[in-house]
Amino acid sequence: MKILVSGGTGYIGSHTVVELQQKGHEVVIVDNLCNSSAGVIRQIGKITGTEPLLEVFDLTDRHRVEDFFGRHAGLDGVIHFAAFKAVGESVQKPLDYYRNNLVSLMNILEAMHQQRVLHLVFSSSCTVYGQPESLPVTEEAPLQKALSPYGNTKRISEEMIADYAPLSGIKAVLLRYFNPIGAHPSALIGELPLGEPNNLLPYITQTAIGKRAALSVFGADYNTPDGTAIRDYIHVCDLANAHVLAMERLSKLQQQQKPEVFNLGTGHGNSVLEVIQSFERVSGLKLNYRITDRRPGDIEQVWADVSLAESVLGWKAVSSLDEMTRSAWNWEKYLASQ
Ligand code: NAD
Ligand code: UDP
Repeated sequence: MKILVSGGTGYIGSHTVVELQQKGHEVVIVDNLCNSSAGVIRQIGKITGTEPLLEVFDLTDRHRVEDFFGRHAGLDGVIHFAAFKAVGESVQKPLDYYRNNLVSLMNILEAMHQQRVLHLVFSSSCTVYGQPESLPVTEEAPLQKALSPYGNTKRISEEMIADYAPLSGIKAVLLRYFNPIGAHPSALIGELPLGEPNNLLPYITQTAIGKRAALSVFGADYNTPDGTAIRDYIHVCDLANAHVLAMERLSKLQQQQKPEVFNLGTGHGNSVLEVIQSFERVSGLKLNYRITDRRPGDIEQVWADVSLAESVLGWKAVSSLDEMTRSAWNWEKYLASQ
């Protein structure tokens, strides 16, 4: 297949490009590099032997999107990663988030319809569930009001795709990621947070390498076994693999009533302290951390029911928590060596 990967130089996108190429698919990336660098293309080339084509432009520019689709005849599908993703920043700049995340998607949907590119895989998030009433959370769980403009863009995007798909003939898979962490085992690509990281794993590795003084553990008074919050951490390479399977499924699907939704997690949760212990185990280091207040807007615990992805996509996460933290640490050390 020939696939457009929007946001393909970003964290999850770059790992998915590697997976697509290794399965023999051709990739074209569109990214405006607002949160990634063109150097990723060379790194992908080192891993797979092929540097994917990159076009640098902003997907909120409707004319550029139409022009791109006009020039790339024979696209089989789109995997749409491009979006802003910082929860806290979205509270400060809500319109930036709505414009970037929603207008990009609208432009892509319209151009797909015009050029009869009819397979879409979309990056959604478990944030659409809020704090679920029962765990593990299934795809049938009621969606809750988003706690941030970022989370709201994911919910609205899912609805936009569901509204437009039957009219346009687009078949879609909406993937609700739990907590992607880790890096490619080659340590040639990984997560590159700009400035101070928001997420747990980059904060841990940057603290260990000496870029940050100490990790704050946000709250140890939750109703969980060790008091810290629980998430379903998933290796980014497992996640990438699910996108390839989703696109391959769409290409074979004769008909679809409505977009299919899949949770992507491991199916079990780990607390913040368990993640720290895993990191200490694989790195042999003692992490400097302290317990602080809860972070506003954080939920207590969530992990996925992944049986649907297993039965329909034939997908299952295979990496352990230690493999995830080890690969994140190897990536941080690679960055420090550059
Ligand atoms: P990322 O920031 O590393 O990658 C996104 C890429 O999109 C970046 O390279 C950025 O430059 C590009 N981009 C953003 N807006 C663009 C625009 N208007 N035009 C062209 N390019 C644009 O993020 P990621 O972690 O790889 O996330 C990928 C997707 O997965 C996003 O949609 C994100 O919301 C979603 N998601 C991520 C997580 C996570 O924890 N990383 C969790 C759930 C969902
Ligand atoms: N967390 C933390 N310290 C940090 C960053 C995160 O204790 O510096 C906790 C956070 O409270 C949550 C978990 O780690 O319980 C995962 O947070 P992250 O921001 O990575 O993902 P989220 O689940 O919030 O999207």
